[in-house]
Amino acid sequence: MKTLNLCILVCLAIAAHCSPILQPADTQQDEDMAETYLKRFYNLTEQSGPTFRRGVSQLSKTLSEMQKFFGLKVTGTLDSDTLQVMKKPRCGVPEVSQYSTFQGNLKWPTNKLTYRIENYTPDLSKSEVDTAIVKALQVWARVTPLRFTRIYSGTADIRISFGRKSHGDSYPFDGPDGTLAHAFAPFAGLGGDAHFDEDEMFSSKSLNGYNLFLVAAHEFGHSMGLSHSSDPGALMYPVYSYRDPNSFSLPQDDVKGIQSLYGSNPDVKPGDPDPEPPTTPDACDPNLVLDAVTTLRGENMFFKGRFFWRSNTQSFKAVQSLIKNFWPEVPDNLDAAYESRETDRVYLFKGREVWALSGYDLVRGYPKSISSMGLPSTVKKISGALYEKHSGKTLFFDDKYYYSYDEGRQMMDKGFPKLVEVGFPGMRGRVTAAFDIRGFSYLFNGSTMFEFNSISKRLYRLLRTNYFLPC
Ligand SMILES: [Zn+2]
Ligand SMILES: [Zn+2]
Repeated sequence: MKTLNLCILVCLAIAAHCSPILQPADTQQDEDMAETYLKRFYNLTEQSGPTFRRGVSQLSKTLSEMQKFFGLKVTGTLDSDTLQVMKKPRCGVPEVSQYSTFQGNLKWPTNKLTYRIENYTPDLSKSEVDTAIVKALQVWARVTPLRFTRIYSGTADIRISFGRKSHGDSYPFDGPDGTLAHAFAPFAGLGGDAHFDEDEMFSSKSLNGYNLFLVAAHEFGHSMGLSHSSDPGALMYPVYSYRDPNSFSLPQDDVKGIQSLYGSNPDVKPGDPDPEPPTTPDACDPNLVLDAVTTLRGENMFFKGRFFWRSNTQSFKAVQSLIKNFWPEVPDNLDAAYESRETDRVYLFKGREVWALSGYDLVRGYPKSISSMGLPSTVKKISGALYEKHSGKTLFFDDKYYYSYDEGRQMMDKGFPKLVEVGFPGMRGRVTAAFDIRGFSYLFNGSTMFEFNSISKRLYRLLRTNYFLPC
């Protein structure tokens, strides 16, 4: 995990000081890694000669397919954003499937399936493994007629095992990180089986290692006949992301997928408490209300629920990710965010707490109370924050009021709070998010964004919230 974090951090640092998104890869090692990735997950066949930089090769075509799947800018060249995605821990099942059976809605002919746990990992106790497996199967049983029975001998439909490197099929694992597990779509023999890479550290509770329940729930999706989804909120997204197993609810994209194969759960009666499956926010939703907005080393970040979009003003492309994929320690549903150029940190707010991040790392000592920044104890949460480059001040919004914080002196300014409509004439309603970019201050009220000149505070335009989000 550590080397992986380090590597992502390096990419981010490059992004900060040069052209932010499209940075050519500079090492042979990266190119080799990318070629292996495309062979493994995108069915790239043997390649001899042309490298990624030369354009119209099979390599470049396959790379474009991968970029399209992940919502990256499709360049056909190996840029830093693409490399960053390739280096994330993921499932071993390819997107462009070499199992032709995966296409054509392959499914089990019965709803009653058996499973068998053939061996255990030393990372967890047997009962922790059993619990994770049962819970992962229940994820799918809850929304379908599928029912699972454990057997202790004989051949089960779904055989579950842990193994390292070559482990009896033609798809050897790769040591720590990289590929975490894989599973086979429903068919005879290996079909339905799920294999977990024993070189990973599996966990049941902590944020460390890979949560076995989350990995298994994803793999069992394959065992039932689902392939990968390009929705970053879906359980069937190929990249691992941590989410709280205790509050896990199968996202809508996965529910739709599995129900298209097996139908819904007949045991759910009308009127049963059935929480709405989590959805992934849509950048094109005209009523989109953002939680928080900030810049980050030359890019813009728009937060909504469990997600954020990262966009670069030159590329007109926004990449959507889970917050937890970037910063596992940071909560969802943030209140406010800003970037301080003085400290090169991003500050994220929720309730009475603030998290300071340096690149991908949580700064030691955080989260702290917002009163540590000098905000009065009467402020229960802030609703928006923006950093003004020209003055070196950060403005904290508390609905219709705002405070001014001097980043240089690390102190709150005197004479505040002020009414927002006094400081920003023309602003109406409470401030729900804010950010400052290229000489403009943007104050959000619900799905409307007010554009002000940062220095004169003159109101220019009213815009939709998703003005900066291409759709
Ligand atoms: Zn997978
Ligand atoms: Zn295997």
